[in-house]
Amino acid sequence: MASVPFPIFDQRPEIALAGFPPASGRLTDSHGRLLTDLRVSVTNRCNYRCVYCRSGEDGVDPAELPIADYARMIRVFVSLGIEKVRLTGGEPLLRRNLLELVAETAALRPAFNPESRIDVALTTNGHLLEGLAQPLRDAGLSRITVSMDAVDAAAFARITRVPGSYDRVLRGVRAAQKAGLGPVKVNCVLLRGFNDDQIEDFARFSREEGVIVRFIEWMPLEEASENPHAHNWAPGTVVTLDEIVTRLNAFRPLVELPPNHQSETARRFTFDDGLGEIGIIAPVSRPFCGHCSRIRLTSDGSVRTCLFSQTDHDLAGLMRRGASDTEMADWIRAVVQRKEARHHIGEPGFLKPSRSMVHIGG
Ligand code: SAM
Repeated sequence: MASVPFPIFDQRPEIALAGFPPASGRLTDSHGRLLTDLRVSVTNRCNYRCVYCRSGEDGVDPAELPIADYARMIRVFVSLGIEKVRLTGGEPLLRRNLLELVAETAALRPAFNPESRIDVALTTNGHLLEGLAQPLRDAGLSRITVSMDAVDAAAFARITRVPGSYDRVLRGVRAAQKAGLGPVKVNCVLLRGFNDDQIEDFARFSREEGVIVRFIEWMPLEEASENPHAHNWAPGTVVTLDEIVTRLNAFRPLVELPPNHQSETARRFTFDDGLGEIGIIAPVSRPFCGHCSRIRLTSDGSVRTCLFSQTDHDLAGLMRRGASDTEMADWIRAVVQRKEARHHIGEPGFLKPSRSMVHIGG
């Protein structure tokens, strides 16, 4: 049998059941996992062409829904127990009327915890953030994550394929900190031999800017390309959690921090002087599918039960056919029963998902 390049840790969904009473009324999958986090892609247009995500070739952009349709779908999901909503894309800040959607989502109350508020977060490349940070905050956004794959201006432009992008994004990060969206999370995907020289500089960046830097292992979700120079995923291109920890420890001793909550995907660290915070998200070398609490909505209104799903479920179509909120909720309950137990990255026979990251919503 071919060898499995990555160990399979904690893949068993039944682990998620430990300590939980049987869920009643809340959105639960057939493996007993409680689904509380919804990721909504509000567009799959993007103003960056990051080399590990986009092919650089122009393709057809699938449809986007009217903002009111996303708002209705989010409302139905919240009625089922969703407590965290992350708006993403594509690049969500390109989307007209985004502030309206943030405000409508922030005004919802968690159905099973009405005393608290919906946690509304956003993932952005930060290019348009400087002018939008305060309006987003005022509309009710709770948290923001900015994707940055280098803290060196030339390397940044090489990755995004947009000249001058680093300075704009840095101004966006600072504007978000100032607007009260801090500590901003900065997500960095490392590719071996490409931007892994940035690890120590990111540690300095976290300490100097007061942001939480999160390294994410690269997953096989890039757009397909005919270009022989394209960055294609292979097990050896992944810079693993163990390697990142070793490098950071050599920079300055790391101290591990406790997880913020049970479904936390990042291992959290600070340094021996307590300055800076680093998260490492290791879906490849340390899969956390057993704790997965996520469900996704694509920009054309399809439900995806896993990043690596082979199929979508057309909620927008159901809505267009005149379904009531209750019918939509019943349909969603049935769909999540088909949520995959886990991904199979690195295993023999692994199939890439039916859509790439930019078309799913990261
Ligand atoms: N445009 C926004 C942005 O740049 O953050 C939101 C969409 S982007 C697809 C969301 C996140 O997915 C980014 O942090 C990006 O680095 C990450 N991402 C894209 N492709 C990835 C891959 N193959 N593996 C891991 N993360 C990936």
